[in-house]
Amino acid sequence: MPMGTVNLLRLARETGATFLQASTSEIYGDAQVQPQSETYYGHVNPIGPRACYDEGKRCAETICFDYHRQYGVRIKVVRIFNTYGPRLSPADGRVASNFILQALRDKPITIYGDGSQTRSLCYVDDMIGGLAAMMDSNDDVTGPINLGNPDEHTIREIADLIMSITDSKSKITFGPVPEDDPQKRRPDISLAIEKLNWRPTVELETGLARTIGYFRRQFSMDMPG
Ligand code: UDP
Repeated sequence: MPMGTVNLLRLARETGATFLQASTSEIYGDAQVQPQSETYYGHVNPIGPRACYDEGKRCAETICFDYHRQYGVRIKVVRIFNTYGPRLSPADGRVASNFILQALRDKPITIYGDGSQTRSLCYVDDMIGGLAAMMDSNDDVTGPINLGNPDEHTIREIADLIMSITDSKSKITFGPVPEDDPQKRRPDISLAIEKLNWRPTVELETGLARTIGYFRRQFSMDMPG
């Protein structure tokens, strides 16, 4: 049970604050439909290594809606799809940060599996615009609403693009695929367009170039001399 969510919902109930739940595309698990719309209930392994996150987030959405129904708490539930940009933690292990750091250091690019799995990466500024639009929406807009960029790419394509922007000498390596790694992920953002008048505008290449610029600056600061 996500106790942090419950405590914050209690606080929202006491203070009358609006509650934003940063939910996730992991709600959909290894989705069997493409793209994923909010009406899809998902395909989640409840006992796998990702389950504590996936089921925790699913349970948190449930509690939000219970507090909304039972106590009238104003809730805003957004399902955030893969997001990237400057200030990603280099130790986070996410695809964009891993590949960028590896490419800048001319180290092997670690593709898990054959790289045919897909993700749709949303630039952080776009995501923040979506979150702000959600908070500005009318009280009857509770969500869940998908926020993400529907521009879908294979992991291999993302690796190639990062190598080309960085002009890297890295070689690509293929490792084991993580258990329950979703094979295809792309948000249906029709609801966000309709209810929030929001859609992402930053192209992948532009966003990656900005992110690479950030890591390049960080990386050169970390280097002695
Ligand atoms: N991935 C990869 N190499 C890496 C990091 C990630 O091939 O060094 C793959 C990972 O297997 C997944 C995709 O990239 O298919 C996105 O992974 P990430 O952890 O960024 O996000 P999530 O899986 O949570 O969507």
